[in-house]
Amino acid sequence: MSDKYDVIVIGAGPGGYVAAIKAAQLGLKTACVESWTSEDGKAQVLGGTCLNVGCIPSKALLEISHKFEESSHDFEMQGIIAKDVKMDIGKMMERKSGIVKQLTGGIAGLFKSNGVTSIHGHGKLLANRKVEVTDKDGKSKTYEAENIILATGSKPIQIPPAPFDGEYIVDSEGALEFTEVPKRLGVIGAGVIGLELGSVWARLGAEVTVLEAQDTFLPAVDQQVAKDALKQFQKQGLNIVMGARMTGAEVKRKLVNVNYEDSKGKHEAKFDKLIVAVGRRPYTDNLLSEDAGVQMDERGFIFVDDNCKTEAPGVWAIGDVVRGPMLAHKASEEGIMVAERIAGHKPQVNYDCIPNVVYTFPEVAWVGKTEEQMKAEGEEYNVGTFPFAANGRAMAANSASGLVKIIADAKTDRIVGFHVVGPQASEIVAQGVIAMEFGSSAEDLALTCFAHPTLSESVHEAALAVGGGAIHIA
Ligand code: FAD
Repeated sequence: MSDKYDVIVIGAGPGGYVAAIKAAQLGLKTACVESWTSEDGKAQVLGGTCLNVGCIPSKALLEISHKFEESSHDFEMQGIIAKDVKMDIGKMMERKSGIVKQLTGGIAGLFKSNGVTSIHGHGKLLANRKVEVTDKDGKSKTYEAENIILATGSKPIQIPPAPFDGEYIVDSEGALEFTEVPKRLGVIGAGVIGLELGSVWARLGAEVTVLEAQDTFLPAVDQQVAKDALKQFQKQGLNIVMGARMTGAEVKRKLVNVNYEDSKGKHEAKFDKLIVAVGRRPYTDNLLSEDAGVQMDERGFIFVDDNCKTEAPGVWAIGDVVRGPMLAHKASEEGIMVAERIAGHKPQVNYDCIPNVVYTFPEVAWVGKTEEQMKAEGEEYNVGTFPFAANGRAMAANSASGLVKIIADAKTDRIVGFHVVGPQASEIVAQGVIAMEFGSSAEDLALTCFAHPTLSESVHEAALAVGGGAIHIA
């Protein structure tokens, strides 16, 4: 087979591997270059951050730790006697790794069945649509393609006061690998990753303190929803300190001493482990030759237009390495769009309809605009909310906290924001995404029949409430 392709993708995360499969399905001769290598240094590992050290392993630990917490604390009041429930952390990690292995191996199978050529090595974009791939032994080979898709993802941000040491001060990847439950766990950053990983270890018995520099909790989230979530996390024992700026962290006698300042003054805290989860940066190390013709923005993201085209002809970029939310499903949607565009079709990603989820318990999920955004933009709107406390299915499931909130344009009644804090919010939010994609009004949802008893009835009731008429609330 010649080394000239229709499409070469660099990076096999949820952006890159999905783009490669779609391109091959559209009849394009496609290769995907991925540098990730197994711990024994032999095999290529596909799936990127998401499958290996992100979405999937974190959700495996969240699911398991939730079951443990529920069985330890909430079973007895439901009449279930499960005395002395214990955790085997080794077994939990084995299960997590098993799920990761199964899924990453699955991608190799999908590449094979769709005819994607997988190339193992570090890819570098050269001028004139060429890609130089260097393998683990340092040998290089150059490939050519009509189109190249850069999908190299992101890496955790390291901050000077708390450099990662892989043992006591760790990033999100290290926090997925603890071999025992730390007695005292510090988390820097109350963002999605900090809250999820803090929750895992708190449920398993760690005393968790989350230090967040900003004054507003989850500032991108509708504040009625964020405040409800904060109250519930605090009730669970997560100590979340807002407005706390870390000034230094030092490892001494197997403890991390953290200094921080808040409105009350200077503080020192001691932790057995410290997770630094302050965000991620686009990853472009040694990706572009000087004459590749691809530009970056001031924050290091590869500069692209709305259709993920870079400034170099035939070169595209998708996922975490470009602007927009760092989410797996956003990366995949961009991957599909770019593959389709290369094949001559004209799809677009609707960036107004990308759902966001915090997979804590309760989960927090949203799509579209918050009430704060509507106010700032001077838009007139109506709001309908419905609490899970008045939902029979949520009560039966012993998770009757939180609410559904729908925001609709006052003139057109079109849904512009859909917010959930509560059980299975990550699943419920899909109803809001579909409604918004179809340009649905709140009345459309209010006139829709929902099965009883379901959590989704809260969506129906919130939609009825937009017009002022929820049924099951005084
Ligand atoms: P990545 O998944 O980062 O993949 C990039 C790939 O490119 C990597 O495999 C890398 O090895 C490879 N690569 C880089 N440079 C080169 C090169 N020069 N040559 C060859 N290969 C290269 N998102 C969600 O939507 N839901 C979640 O629940 C969620 N949970 C998360 C939990 C954690 C702890 C973390 C860290 C992230 C989570 N994310 C979640 C974010 C999600 O993982 C990313 O948004 C997603 O992986 C981005 O996909 P990508 O394809 O752009 O990049």
